Amino acid sequence: MNIPDPSSVLDRIVLGRSYRRAADALTAFAAIVLPSSCVICGQWDTSLCPGCSAVFRRATSRPFRAEAGAESLPDVALDAAGTAGSGDRTDAYGPLPVVAAGRYGRAVSGVLLAYKNHGHVDLAAPVEAALAGALHEAVTHLCRSPDGPGPARQVLLVPVPGRASSQRRRGYDPLMLLLSRLERRGGLPAGTRLVAGARQVSPAARLSGALMRGGVGGVLRDGLAALSGPGGGQKGLGRRRRRANVLRSMRAGRHARALLADRDCIIVDDVLTTGATIGELHRVLRGGGARVLGGVVIAATSSPAGARPGTVPGPGTG
Ligand SMILES: [Zn+2]
Repeated sequence: MNIPDPSSVLDRIVLGRSYRRAADALTAFAAIVLPSSCVICGQWDTSLCPGCSAVFRRATSRPFRAEAGAESLPDVALDAAGTAGSGDRTDAYGPLPVVAAGRYGRAVSGVLLAYKNHGHVDLAAPVEAALAGALHEAVTHLCRSPDGPGPARQVLLVPVPGRASSQRRRGYDPLMLLLSRLERRGGLPAGTRLVAGARQVSPAARLSGALMRGGVGGVLRDGLAALSGPGGGQKGLGRRRRRANVLRSMRAGRHARALLADRDCIIVDDVLTTGATIGELHRVLRGGGARVLGGVVIAATSSPAGARPGTVPGPGTG
């Protein structure tokens, strides 16, 4: 008997119409019946008061290039304009370009963590607006056609896949929920298409993969990282541990070869810290034959200048 892979089943559910309808109904329901207080200042009767909403909007309305502070992003060939994936016009190598909507400061982290980890799906609207701004900025400046800025052909937006275990715990995939809302409202940048191009590999599959590749030594090297992965997040880990923690944690989706080969992609994630997670998806997409033009995140822990270290991120970021 052919047992379906849970993560691919979840992919289908998350991308399905019924899931989207249910998520919207849940949002409306939560807003009506649940007593709430502002996730930033604690003011009653609203999940985000007008004042904190304005602070969040200001903090995420000027997207910036955030790759400079992320040491685990892959190095890629860049042209003179600092864009990747333009083929033979290579002028330099540098970290994969990443556009962030804002810096991971107090207001932004408060809203993101409440939305992501504490069931505040009613905060999807402001987070979605922040992500939309960064996506438009990225498509304008990371994609180049011979005529100038902007994509010459369709660009695939590929979100970092959520872990099946996190999805079960939360009941929703925060990033995919935002992107599918944007897609449904026509809010994605022109010339882009949302594609679930990769999925998470289960810890058991990572262990057996490590055993096949490197025997017991391979299990000790890669497998323990797989086991430490799910709840541990990336916080407080050194650069090499962060990389090891996510290495081979993703693989291309079921029909990815046909979807990805020779296509231009932009990776979408929620928070950029070291870039190890984006690096892992970059590896998978490149393996599928895609060109990766850059990444987009809602928030980055590096400041716009790239010099000042940001606020320490919460669990599950990376
Ligand atoms: Zn407030």
